[in-house]
Amino acid sequence: MRDSSATAHSARLAPPPRRGASRSIAVRAVPALRVARCDSPGRRACVRTPRPPPSSTPLEVLVVSFRIIRRAIPAVVLPCVAALGACRDALAPDTHPGVELNRLGASQLRLAKAGDTVYGRNNNIRYFVGNGPIILLAPHGGPKGTSEWPARRCGVNSNDVYAPELARAMRLQIYRQTGRWPHLIENRLDRKYLDANRDVAEATCGSSLAAISWREYHTFVDSAKARAVARYGAALVLDVHGQSNDARINVGYSGLSGQELRRGRSTIEAQEASSSIRHVSRRSPLTYERLVRGSHSFGSLLSAAGYRAIVGQRDSMPATADTAEYRWGGYSVNRHGSRDGGTVSALLLENNRAVRSDLDLRARYARDIVPRVLAPWMREHMGIEIMP
Ligand SMILES: [Zn+2]
Repeated sequence: MRDSSATAHSARLAPPPRRGASRSIAVRAVPALRVARCDSPGRRACVRTPRPPPSSTPLEVLVVSFRIIRRAIPAVVLPCVAALGACRDALAPDTHPGVELNRLGASQLRLAKAGDTVYGRNNNIRYFVGNGPIILLAPHGGPKGTSEWPARRCGVNSNDVYAPELARAMRLQIYRQTGRWPHLIENRLDRKYLDANRDVAEATCGSSLAAISWREYHTFVDSAKARAVARYGAALVLDVHGQSNDARINVGYSGLSGQELRRGRSTIEAQEASSSIRHVSRRSPLTYERLVRGSHSFGSLLSAAGYRAIVGQRDSMPATADTAEYRWGGYSVNRHGSRDGGTVSALLLENNRAVRSDLDLRARYARDIVPRVLAPWMREHMGIEIMP
């Protein structure tokens, strides 16, 4: 510190070189530093005489080095790593193991801002970065093909037709009505190449390249959750799907199957501990059973808005014959909701065919769900106001 102070003063006090003077003369003028010393009492201006630096111990050298590196990380290292990642992806997209890509992706994610769109490897996964407390997922239904790995030979391969289009319509309506972008993470691959709503074994059926895209999808969700929680303290994940078995909209929660709904109140209450909205239930004044099928439940609000839904007050359980068809839980709501702790809760939203494929109805549904379902539900049960 002392040496740099002396240099600064010397730069101000040294006489400027005369026009035409030689370089050696200007350099020789610098020893004017010797004209004053700072150890004289009462001096208002002085010059510190340069002294040789004290010899540093190895520990001091280590501490100084650590400080320099720590300051350099956000300004220099992260952008360099991000740029390197982009170049590596462009030059040799097929040769990187998933773990490395995810590490680079994580550093790039920190630089992204609301309104940005971040793509995973080969654009298979797309993340619309938001700044609100709502996170939309679209894991099934992307039409994108790939020749990099064969079609899956395990699990389910049928797409949720128009579910990604519905999720994008909801994203725009949430922004228009609340002024904040929701996060949206989309699997753009056809389900026969990747099922983002399964554990990695079933999602990829053993393909290591598919596993890269699977990891990116969930890394993006983790990033969205972290951003939302940092700003709002809690968040809501809507896992947007499509089904064609039921004309109603199917609202599902981890741990609450059709059989358990049919068993009644005490069984439902016991399932709170394994619920993907456990954090909301603990916070809400309602019991868990009222939260999922009372008059202020998500399903009841949907029905009141004109989009009949199960489970809710009117449709409080599936019929015996339809019990197996009722959709609940799933990998993403289990993993990304509050079942295992945290303040991010997750709902499964299995939308019927009409609200997905009918263009006018889709637009109306996406518009209505914001003020009539999401806003009152989050206000009453989460304490989060999304309307301006
Ligand atoms: Zn689905």
